[in-house]
Amino acid sequence: MARIPLSQVDERVVNMPMVVLQCRKMGHAWQERPLGKHRRNELRGTGVIEELFMCLRCKLRRCDVIDEDTYDKVGTSYPDGYPEGYAAPRGSGRIPRREARLAYAARARRG
Ligand SMILES: [Zn+2]
Repeated sequence: MARIPLSQVDERVVNMPMVVLQCRKMGHAWQERPLGKHRRNELRGTGVIEELFMCLRCKLRRCDVIDEDTYDKVGTSYPDGYPEGYAAPRGSGRIPRREARLAYAARARRG
């Protein structure tokens, strides 16, 4: 198998933690988490419910806001922000999965 030179790896991902590269190449491993009773009470009467998720790998937390009548998703937020090393430099555009896949492969082969 061809060795991938690190010089071919997008500089935005070259130093990202391996766990971040896994989420960037495969998508997050979401697990639904219970919404606390206190929060459920706060939302009563607002017309929306919230669904809370956490990524099993990188621990990113996501909160989807759902219309309780239609079940359309009306919003998403990340209450704690992104994990250390996840974010690309501001204004540098989105990072295609291919770039994370390539960086992961290049680093994995180096052990
Ligand atoms: Zn993740």
